[in-house]
Amino acid sequence: NILDPAAGEHAYELDRSHVFHSWSAQGALKPFVIAGALASTVWDFDGNHYLDFSSQLVNMNIGHQHPRVVAAIKAQADTLTMVAPAHANLARGEAAKRILAKAGRPFSKVFFTNGGADANENAIRMARLVTGRDKVLSQYRSYHGNTGAAIVATGDWRRMPNEFARGHVHFFGPFAYRSEFWSDSPEQECERALHHLERMIVSEGQSTIAAILLEGVPGTAGVLVPPPGYLEGVRALADKYGILLILDEVMSGFGRTGEWFSWQGFSREEGNWKPDLVTFAKGVNSGYVPTGGVIISESIANAFDDVVFPGGLTYSGHPLAMASIVASIDAMDDEGIIDHARVIGSDHLEPGLAELARKHPMIGEVRGLGVFWALDLVDDPDTRNPVSGAVIARLKGELMSRGLLPFAADNRIHVVPPCIVTADEVARALEIYDEAFTAVE
Ligand code: PLP
Repeated sequence: NILDPAAGEHAYELDRSHVFHSWSAQGALKPFVIAGALASTVWDFDGNHYLDFSSQLVNMNIGHQHPRVVAAIKAQADTLTMVAPAHANLARGEAAKRILAKAGRPFSKVFFTNGGADANENAIRMARLVTGRDKVLSQYRSYHGNTGAAIVATGDWRRMPNEFARGHVHFFGPFAYRSEFWSDSPEQECERALHHLERMIVSEGQSTIAAILLEGVPGTAGVLVPPPGYLEGVRALADKYGILLILDEVMSGFGRTGEWFSWQGFSREEGNWKPDLVTFAKGVNSGYVPTGGVIISESIANAFDDVVFPGGLTYSGHPLAMASIVASIDAMDDEGIIDHARVIGSDHLEPGLAELARKHPMIGEVRGLGVFWALDLVDDPDTRNPVSGAVIARLKGELMSRGLLPFAADNRIHVVPPCIVTADEVARALEIYDEAFTAVE
């Protein structure tokens, strides 16, 4: 990259003249222009460097420009850039084999998609076809993607203007800090949230429900780590009523929680339960080439041995994406990146963010694990009233001016660096957060 401020201005003007942005009123946008990036750092055309504590859209798990992943994409481009999905291809087979090795039994096949939304779309389709039932239960505090069924399965505000798909019902998951259930402990929150879900299942009619769709850790909704026993309890309810469990690991998978899949950490403590279908995207190849998919249990995959699966995508298993998955998983294995993310979480982010919260009463709660954290910001720790958008905007400005690219959602700052972030970078980021909170307070 040539660091030329004029090139930066040109990029900005081109964007404002011609590019239509996601989830925004277009008029007032002032996008940040990124010129280049490496590992946990991005820079602009003026040569200013920023610690990327957003991981872009919480997807750069392996960090920017990992040389092995870039080389694999180049090598694949020299060999074969595209095959129709009906053909077999070495890179796709190798990618599926590696993903299944990380998921373990009872999973036996992978269906590749273009991203996370269509992964959920196809998982929902599979569940409906296999069960012969229609309804999908998902959480109000969730995001599942921007396609027909996925956006209606989403719980947040983005659902309402898009509510054209049928068969979706929402419920409240556990969130002790802002409990819907008047609970005063994680145990009570878990018990009451499970009771609420069972009442929803019975009231909707168990024989009408194909699937419960959940994020392993609801991410965009605020990194809502489920209390111990909740996901195991949902699995038990799904089994009791013959409903399939789809776990959306699009954000929580491939290292974000310090595990390959978030369920593996929870299930290790909770009786080794497994979902029936798992959706993934983002961290599987850190988005170097768009891709995602559904990891399918053997019994569901077998249901389509003699019955046509009525779904497909031109770019299902695109070779460039598949080569980047293979290289990314191999590099994560060889470099111990998943374990590193877990240790960065337990030894650096957790104590560092707790200390930050002790200093700044605006931080009402710190929650998370691995490299997946949220600071829930409040006007007053007693009322827990969320801070306004104006406070978040000022905080973002203070963080940017000190060299940290933040991730903000509603009244929260999400602390979501790449899994490869170093202890020194975390220490520097903690100083920047501290200074920015002091400036805003
Ligand atoms: N599911 C979850 C949990 C997500 O966080 C996202 C994106 O943020 C999606 C699905 C949608 O993925 P994509 O934007 O790749 O379609």
